[in-house]
Amino acid sequence: MSGEPQQRGLGAYLGLAVGDALGATVEFMTPREIQAAHGVHRRITGGGWLNLRVGAVTDDTTMSLALGGAVLASGGLDGRAMAEAFSQWMRDRPVDIGHTVRRGIIHYRRTGEIETPLNDNDAGNGACMRVLPVVLATLDQPLDMLHAACRLQGRITHHHPLSDAGTACVATMVRMAIQGCDAADLIQGPVEALVTAHPEFRFRGRREENPSGFIVHTLRAVFQALFDTDCFENCLVDVVNRGGDADTTGAIAGMIAGALYGESDIPASWRRALDPRVLEAVTAQTLDLMEMSLMEGSHRDLERAGGS
Ligand code: MN
Ligand code: MN
Repeated sequence: MSGEPQQRGLGAYLGLAVGDALGATVEFMTPREIQAAHGVHRRITGGGWLNLRVGAVTDDTTMSLALGGAVLASGGLDGRAMAEAFSQWMRDRPVDIGHTVRRGIIHYRRTGEIETPLNDNDAGNGACMRVLPVVLATLDQPLDMLHAACRLQGRITHHHPLSDAGTACVATMVRMAIQGCDAADLIQGPVEALVTAHPEFRFRGRREENPSGFIVHTLRAVFQALFDTDCFENCLVDVVNRGGDADTTGAIAGMIAGALYGESDIPASWRRALDPRVLEAVTAQTLDLMEMSLMEGSHRDLERAGGS
């Protein structure tokens, strides 16, 4: 795969990382606090409650890299390889980790099960924020296989219908954008389908500010910022200045907008600010995962599992 799809795939992974790095500075702040401290927050400066170095990323990006690494190392979509990679990622002491992610990984370590039991509290955004690698690895596969892969990786830590639905929607949006669809196609397709099945995701109306880690709040903020702007920079500035779970809204908006507008629309100053090791890792992984999606038979295990 080369040319435009590759440029948009790179845009998605780079967009995820810069959105995470940009948003982390203002995570858990209210819009009013951001305004007082930064005016409009629009530069990658590190800091924040995690006291990050300039250009450092957080769990949103590093869990994605762990998942992508597992897909590449196992040569396909293998739930146990994914769960092991998440477990190793937690052992490596990430700078931040969500409560649901931690509980899911501990459940896996105790039981060996790669799907946590259905849980009312599992509707956080943690499965959605890390979904990009399975999108890149299945671009040439049927959409059903992508959705099965979303559940496979997601339910290792998050087992809730709203997490499943929101994650599948975002994954489908990124896939369609990489394949050349525009914003209107994304609204008419996966976004309409999501709000029809789960009306709580309806995003028109009251402005979603200070979004929590609940997938519904997160995606309403992301959809508003994405569909009310027309370039990568404005989308990301809009979403992170809403505060709340800003590194994760930044990461999710960044992967969709990066796919939609392409790598070339990501501001050069943001790319330059990103930790060079992260830049190198996301670039290499994008190319390898997109290459894999063309490989005959690479996802045989998931096919056999019947997409459940
Ligand atoms: Mn984070
Ligand atoms: Mn977050």
